[in-house]
Amino acid sequence: MQSAANKLPPYDHQRIETALQERWERERAFLAPLAGAEGAAEGAAAAGLSPQPLARPRWIYIKASAPFTSGNIHMGHVRSYAIGDAYARYCRARGDNVLFAFGYDSFGLPAELGAIAAGVHPSAWVARCAQRMTGQLKRLGFSFNWDRSFVSSDPSMYRWSQWLFLTLLERGLIYRGTGSVDFCPSCNTTLASIQVEDGHCWRCHGPVILLERPQWLLRISAYVPENDARAAELSLWEETALGSQREVLGRLEGVEVDLPDAHREGFTLTAFTPHGDALAAAAFVAISPRHPELERWVADERVAGALEELRLGGFARSARDARAVPLIDTGLAVRAPVGSGRLPVVISPLVDQRFGPTAVLGIPACDRTDGVIAERLQLALPEHQEGAGAPAGSAIEPRAAVRYRARDFSISRQRYWGTPIPIVYCERCGTVPLSASELPLELPAELQPTGAENPLASAPSFYETDCPRCQGPARRETDTLDCHFDALWLWIPACVPPECRELPLEQILALDELRAWLPSERLVAGSDSGNFMFDQRIVTKALRDSGHLGFLSAGEPFAGALMHEMVIRDGRKMSKHLGNVVEPDELVAEVGADTLRLAVLWAARPQRSLNWTESAVAHCNRFLRNLWSFSLEAFATPPAELQSALGEPPKLATDHLRRKLQRWCETAQARILAATAELEMHTAVRELMRFEERIRKSFLAPVIKKRGELRREDQEALLAALALLLELLEPFAPHFATELKQRGAAVLEQAQLAPDSDAVVESA
Ligand SMILES: [Zn+2]
Ligand SMILES: [Zn+2]
Repeated sequence: MQSAANKLPPYDHQRIETALQERWERERAFLAPLAGAEGAAEGAAAAGLSPQPLARPRWIYIKASAPFTSGNIHMGHVRSYAIGDAYARYCRARGDNVLFAFGYDSFGLPAELGAIAAGVHPSAWVARCAQRMTGQLKRLGFSFNWDRSFVSSDPSMYRWSQWLFLTLLERGLIYRGTGSVDFCPSCNTTLASIQVEDGHCWRCHGPVILLERPQWLLRISAYVPENDARAAELSLWEETALGSQREVLGRLEGVEVDLPDAHREGFTLTAFTPHGDALAAAAFVAISPRHPELERWVADERVAGALEELRLGGFARSARDARAVPLIDTGLAVRAPVGSGRLPVVISPLVDQRFGPTAVLGIPACDRTDGVIAERLQLALPEHQEGAGAPAGSAIEPRAAVRYRARDFSISRQRYWGTPIPIVYCERCGTVPLSASELPLELPAELQPTGAENPLASAPSFYETDCPRCQGPARRETDTLDCHFDALWLWIPACVPPECRELPLEQILALDELRAWLPSERLVAGSDSGNFMFDQRIVTKALRDSGHLGFLSAGEPFAGALMHEMVIRDGRKMSKHLGNVVEPDELVAEVGADTLRLAVLWAARPQRSLNWTESAVAHCNRFLRNLWSFSLEAFATPPAELQSALGEPPKLATDHLRRKLQRWCETAQARILAATAELEMHTAVRELMRFEERIRKSFLAPVIKKRGELRREDQEALLAALALLLELLEPFAPHFATELKQRGAAVLEQAQLAPDSDAVVESA
């Protein structure tokens, strides 16, 4: 080879990456096609991945997670978006129509506190953070459709939350109830869970109590059984993601029995237990304070008073264990399921945590917590004999039953930086929702939060208003929606072309665009997103039944989902506190975006925590550098300039090596495409590296060894293999692969003429 290594330009990641990123920006390279533009993807089908463009392009919406506007992209983002971006680029090359976009999740306490610390208004803080994060993500070269990105705290976006609130309220899926909040008595303010450190207030370090106060709650219970049943249909969900849904669901199988009231004729209480074989050992019945028929079991004023105290008086956080948890003996009893005994009925919030808002049999023989409660009640325990059946005739027939731990939750917060709730309280009309035409109800921009109480509650300019129904004086709701509520719709607006964003929401939800893109083909999210996904699935079913997303007949927003674990270091979570944070920006400056992206994919399967090491970066950087010089050397010689191997002496023949190379090409292509299609990017990257090694060490080296130089046929085979390698590498190291393909365009074109790449794996 006429390799003049000293003349080859070095791998300058900085120049290559920024030049290509500018070009992508200029050419608006990653715009999603509009629905109706069916042929849009045909021209995009690149030769290498899919020689035959698909007859009808698929519409693939890859839902990237919505980052909090913290102001900094961290390694977890890099991992998540490197997976999603590789998949997006793979799908585009395959000929699909692709939408890869996200919106910033910008409401909530962290943003409010960040703004206070920076001495600016939250809206300014959020805008600054989003701009900075966008810059960081662009420098990483992710192929987001930026025109479709948005910030959830913009009025045009949070009207989605208000519209959804009204829609769910009308369907009885949002209701007024009580919920427990963390409360600091000395600061006289409610706290978010992140403001509670070991049961103490973050500001004054005083003890925090749990307080019951009026809240708006989301009735997910209406759709929990359907979420359970539909999970079996989620065939593109990877096992960890499915597992997260089972976890949130908290499905418990067992039996239930109808137990007659021991004193009152005709009343029964239905009690559940997971221990269907131990009914004879039941010692008491515990009812949740949220049980829908609770009032029937409030025997007298003493019990009513105790219950009131439980709901309003607050109980310390430490009282969450069985020894200290509130326990109200109702003084009432029901018949035991087996035999002629009676079981006392108690009320305890312990039931909710373990079984949901229901009634359960207490069976100390099977359950340690039940044992503690029986002890506290000083109950004489019935004998429990394994397998000993009850005397026939005296047993109440049990039936199979299911309970779910997933329960309704509070969606309102006593905070400024959130979506205003479109509700007024009128003395004459009661609770009155605004009408959709009055949206958005804007958050007053002139108020400045301080971190203590909610400034909306002390701003007459906000809360004094007229009743929409009677025009009399009324007071606005001053709680705002928890940002978890925003997450319920955050997956939809990316499907809306920017020019349609201001339309009424009913019109937006009826757009063809939504039918084209939804359900999202793949959600890629962190392993802490299980609750979000679960509740998004709930709300999709509600919007299906309200007719707004009627075309999603299964009520599922994501056809597929991949969950990845965190990036950690030295076995611990990265945190400023521990001083073990790895800054993506520094690595991008040092080794480039392609190396960093390759390293996070190479280092671990998505399902495993990625324990960050410098060696992953070093390994991937070395791979790219080697491939860079290897490719440039190969490009230096067009095959036509070389002598043909035709007619050379048999002892010099290299046909068998070329045949081997051809087989390796086929194997690598099949494996890498299959892994990429399954979002197993870790496997794909490792296969790419193995492929490169085979080309270099198992083909090129033996050929050179055999006769000291390449013949035309060898060079053609080498270039064809390199062309395939670069094509397959492009989703993972897009700048690098694009640059090399351009540099070798002329010679690679010749190589493409070689018979090749019929064995494309296309899992349609
Ligand atoms: Zn405090
Ligand atoms: Zn009124």
